[in-house]
Amino acid sequence: MNQQLFEAVDNYICDLVAPEDDALKATVESIEKNGIPQISISASQGKFLQVLAKLCNAKKILEVGTLAGYSTIWMARALPKDGKLISLEYEQLHADVARENIKRAGLDNIVEIRVGKAIDLLPELAKENMVFDMIFIDADKEPYAEYFQWALKLSHSGTLIIADNVIREGKVLEENPDDERVAGVHRFNKLLAATKEVTACIIQNVGAKEHDGMAIAVVN
Ligand code: SAM
Repeated sequence: MNQQLFEAVDNYICDLVAPEDDALKATVESIEKNGIPQISISASQGKFLQVLAKLCNAKKILEVGTLAGYSTIWMARALPKDGKLISLEYEQLHADVARENIKRAGLDNIVEIRVGKAIDLLPELAKENMVFDMIFIDADKEPYAEYFQWALKLSHSGTLIIADNVIREGKVLEENPDDERVAGVHRFNKLLAATKEVTACIIQNVGAKEHDGMAIAVVN
């Protein structure tokens, strides 16, 4: 693989159609400043999610895994003024930094961050009868299949469910992976393929980030 070429093309794409404004640049800087791992999606992926949110005319978006709010900002910008994005985050520091970044981006009126384990917070959303137009899964990989099952419960016909990091540099080709994260996405990919309620695809990604992939499913 020619990683240098992939990065150069990713930069070309970002310069053309996904330039970061001050709020996004400040969000990237906040990650380093607070010693948070640099594991947010890339700008071109952020723009891709924004296009998907527009495509499905999203008014309500759910995100599982906020980090510093980088992907949150990209997606929330596709929402109308009366839209809502709920993002679930386990780490209090990440949630605090994300809240600052979201405020700076002027999105605090439509974004709500809930702190806790996603597996505990998802049933609460169901109890509140919340239904989303788009759901982005990007937290710990081991329970991806469970997150997908909850996403289905929180969906309607036409909801887009997207899950990041489902290729893991090709490690998903291992039949019985030792790495629990790879095993988690393995289980998720199999469940996705077997779920009749969705029409799904997986897109392989190269670029600024390592070789990976995003699963995209629309609820039938
Ligand atoms: N979506 C973010 C972005 O692109 O800007 C990146 C999210 S990062 C890959 C994963 C996040 O999920 C981290 O902030 C991590 O603390 C959080 N996380 C890990 N385990 C979690 C759990 N059980 N419940 C909720 N969040 C969790």
